[in-house]
Amino acid sequence: MQIGEYKLYNEKLLWCKGRKMSTRLKNKVVLLIGASKGIGRGIATLFATEGAQLMLVGRNESLLESLIKEINNKGGQSDYCLGDVANEQDMENAAKLTVSRFGKLDILCQNAGIYPEAWIEQMTAEQWHQVLNTNLTGTFYAVKACIPYLKKQNGGRIVLTSSISGPQVGLPGYSHYTASKGGMNGFIRTIAIELAKYNITVNGIEPGNIITEGMADLGEEHIKRMERAIPLRRLGSIEDIAHAMLFLASDEASYITGQTIVVDGGQILPESHFLPFYTEQDA
Ligand code: NAP
Repeated sequence: MQIGEYKLYNEKLLWCKGRKMSTRLKNKVVLLIGASKGIGRGIATLFATEGAQLMLVGRNESLLESLIKEINNKGGQSDYCLGDVANEQDMENAAKLTVSRFGKLDILCQNAGIYPEAWIEQMTAEQWHQVLNTNLTGTFYAVKACIPYLKKQNGGRIVLTSSISGPQVGLPGYSHYTASKGGMNGFIRTIAIELAKYNITVNGIEPGNIITEGMADLGEEHIKRMERAIPLRRLGSIEDIAHAMLFLASDEASYITGQTIVVDGGQILPESHFLPFYTEQDA
């Protein structure tokens, strides 16, 4: 899929073409929620090249089916189950299915999230609850469902997709979304303390503006505006996020917990008096 000058999936980066399957996640079983497209698809593909066995969860069966076919045809190991992150029973089923399919659970990656625009004066309670139920309560359901299995393994990783919007910056039109991601960061810090005694680490990634199907829905004009506000002068790719997520999910990150990593091309860095720098002419 092509969006403006961006190619959504960069096969070369994700499959590390010319390089054999690597082993950073060898023998690790991953439950990945929100896998069917966008950032989740990037994470699924990269984790598979690193040797992970993956249970992929989402609501779109045909996308999940085609993704596991692609992974398994290239020598990876994956399966899928349908599930809504905002449904507690679905998350319990997904965790249970992962263990019955692959024998254990080592890593939960909760990436599912939605970001429909709604300004506060027009926002309905229904819109508010939909976003909070998916992004924040859904994360709670996913984590809660996995804890017993991670404890059984004497440890594991919980990695969550947060956002710069909320934890770092405000984003007009998205107060429900920013509240959900700000909440997620507080959740990460607190459960990292509670779960440390089981050797379970909890961390997150805060993406900036990443080119995905969801982002494409916001329109070309939004994308152009965003490019001008990013010091590295491009939107991020799903590979940029997947590689950061891989680090947090890997053994190399075993002494990191309760943290989030900003992956945003420098977007949150500039002081406001540098804003004139970001004009059409400079872009
Ligand atoms: P996307 O392209 O719209 O993909 C969203 C993924 O989440 C899809 O796989 C979707 O699968 C899944 N999902 C949504 N609602 C779900 C539900 N109720 N139950 C289960 N799965 C659900 O979005 P994206 O841009 O890749 O975003 C992924 C994550 O990154 C989100 O948490 C988002 O907040 C975060 N993020 C994105 C950006 C960005 O610039 N793109 C920036 C910061 C943070 P189904 O449709 O199959 O259910």
